[in-house]
Amino acid sequence: MAAQNTDADWVARLADEVVAEVERRAPGRVVVASGLSPSGPIHLGNLREVMVPHLVADEIRRRGLECVHILSWDDFDRLRRVPADMDSSWAEHVGKPLTSVPAPPGSPHPNWAEHFKAPMAASLARLGVQYRGVSQTQMYTSGAYVDQVLLAMRERARIDAVLARYRTKAAPVRAVAEVAAGEADAAAAELAAEGSGAATEDEGVTSAGYFPFKPYCSVCQRDLTTVTGYDDATTAMTYTCVCGHTQTVLLTEFRDGKLVWKVDWPMRWAYEGVVFEPSGVDHQSPGSSFDVGGQLVRDIFGGEQPIGPMYAFVGITGMAKMSSSRGGVPTPADALEIMEEFLLRWLYTRRRPQQAFSVAFDTELHRVYDEWDAVERKVAEGTASDLDFSSYDRAVRTAAGELPRTARPLPYRTLASVADITTGDPAQTLRILSDLDPQHPIGSLDEVRPRLDRAQCWVETQLPATQRTRLRLEPDRAALDGLSDQQRGALKLLLDGLDTHWSYEGLSKLVYAVPKLQAGLTADAKPTPELKVAQRTFFALVYRLLIGSDTGPRLPTLLLAAGQDRVRTLLCG
Ligand SMILES: [Zn+2]
Repeated sequence: MAAQNTDADWVARLADEVVAEVERRAPGRVVVASGLSPSGPIHLGNLREVMVPHLVADEIRRRGLECVHILSWDDFDRLRRVPADMDSSWAEHVGKPLTSVPAPPGSPHPNWAEHFKAPMAASLARLGVQYRGVSQTQMYTSGAYVDQVLLAMRERARIDAVLARYRTKAAPVRAVAEVAAGEADAAAAELAAEGSGAATEDEGVTSAGYFPFKPYCSVCQRDLTTVTGYDDATTAMTYTCVCGHTQTVLLTEFRDGKLVWKVDWPMRWAYEGVVFEPSGVDHQSPGSSFDVGGQLVRDIFGGEQPIGPMYAFVGITGMAKMSSSRGGVPTPADALEIMEEFLLRWLYTRRRPQQAFSVAFDTELHRVYDEWDAVERKVAEGTASDLDFSSYDRAVRTAAGELPRTARPLPYRTLASVADITTGDPAQTLRILSDLDPQHPIGSLDEVRPRLDRAQCWVETQLPATQRTRLRLEPDRAALDGLSDQQRGALKLLLDGLDTHWSYEGLSKLVYAVPKLQAGLTADAKPTPELKVAQRTFFALVYRLLIGSDTGPRLPTLLLAAGQDRVRTLLCG
């Protein structure tokens, strides 16, 4: 069905704007763009850089129009510092293009950039993101931009004048990022800025004048070079390098260098005809590259600035400490280990780009899954709001097709509890999951995959050892001996009802009913404050006897997981 063009559906609204802009410029192909710098692991926070244009492109394709989503890999950027986890000998590579830096030891990839691109590309494929990847190394070294480079050099005085006007107004990037993201998220914001091409490299001012082109040294490959002269008539450019090398090259032929970022970005808008490219707050402060680029693309490159809404940072909460070899930086691949593809998409589809949000790696994820399941039920019943429907629909499919789904989507928190208690044992898992709803038993674990796999991975990687559930092997004699008559009575009511209530729903009713029956009420009596206290007290007693803790997985799940025999042994000794 066609997406509803309502205010609630931000994707449709942006797609309307983009299509109208294309009509205004010159009807034809729609081009949207993203840029990522593979300078290290690509942070999950950078996924928004791709998801916002992806969703707009997908909406345009759903309307039957052609739309190209260009993903610029900024792999011709310089390595800016010795990466965390690499020894100091790596310093010799600082200043080289990311594609000229060796891959980390043991990597199957040919260079540093490819090593970090590959997992991101794999995640994007899983998320159903269709794009045309453009390597900036390939573009520059093949000579694709020679005319644009010569133009920028010819117009260097005008470019310098534009940059100079903004230089005085420029606010420090970090300060802006902190205001936008809040003090706590400033570090994440900085990380995100790093992966988004916001290289705050020098703008090309030298003592010999202003040059927007920065060569990589032919001897040491680094960009620690200074342009000392340029002849417009012959395109002869002379540079010196800190390594001692001096060289004169013809820019019509020389390929080993690039335009500085603030000139490079608008050049590419014009070159590709980009109509839509959102960017993070770090690009959008006054005097930022987006501002400056808007003027340069018109004045110098004869193009137009894309529609470029600012998107807010995406934070990460509750991620357990990961192995230090990955630098503790969560990537989209890490998120996809513990959640299904559509769920990660949904986090982006349901919030406008200006809204900040966090991706939860802790038990908050269980709540998000509950919310998703509720929306899915409403969609199936036809009672979902327009916003719920559109954000759901954009999460589960693209113009190219459906994303993978779980045939029987059992509650994630239940699957996590079962994975926790069984430590992943397949036979036990199948037994417990089949007991959840004996009317519709599970025939094979494949029916509950891949959600089960994600929940098992969540338990393995995110649930702290101290919070793991350990069923007692032997009854707690001391506790059992110290029970009051009232407590014994409650446990007897529970044990007597086990057989006839052995399902998730049945046990849910039973555990809430026990305190009511003890109070002389019927099982369906309305809960009072006193009853609620009695229920909580009773649950805590059962938890203590089963797992030695006051709280744990939901009680029906725990009882099913323990099995009737073990429950009887532990509750009456
Ligand atoms: Zn050099």
